[in-house]
Amino acid sequence: MKLSIDTDRCEANAVCVGIAPDIFELDDQDVLHLTLVDVPADRLDDVREAVAQCPRAALVLDESSPDQ
Ligand code: SF4
Repeated sequence: MKLSIDTDRCEANAVCVGIAPDIFELDDQDVLHLTLVDVPADRLDDVREAVAQCPRAALVLDESSPDQ
């Protein structure tokens, strides 16, 4: 499943980083980056949690794309 960021909505508050720091990273400029785009099955629970907890609804998980 494909993960993406709506950079216009993200306010770099690091909620997602706290949930899955191996996937979400803030750089020195407080810009959020993903360490992966295709989410493996064993990380889906944390990614779904991050999507649900993002206060800006800035994370998009395309549940329609095929599993890897
Ligand atoms: S939780 Fe949402 S607003 Fe906060 S850094 Fe992550 S994507 Fe951006």
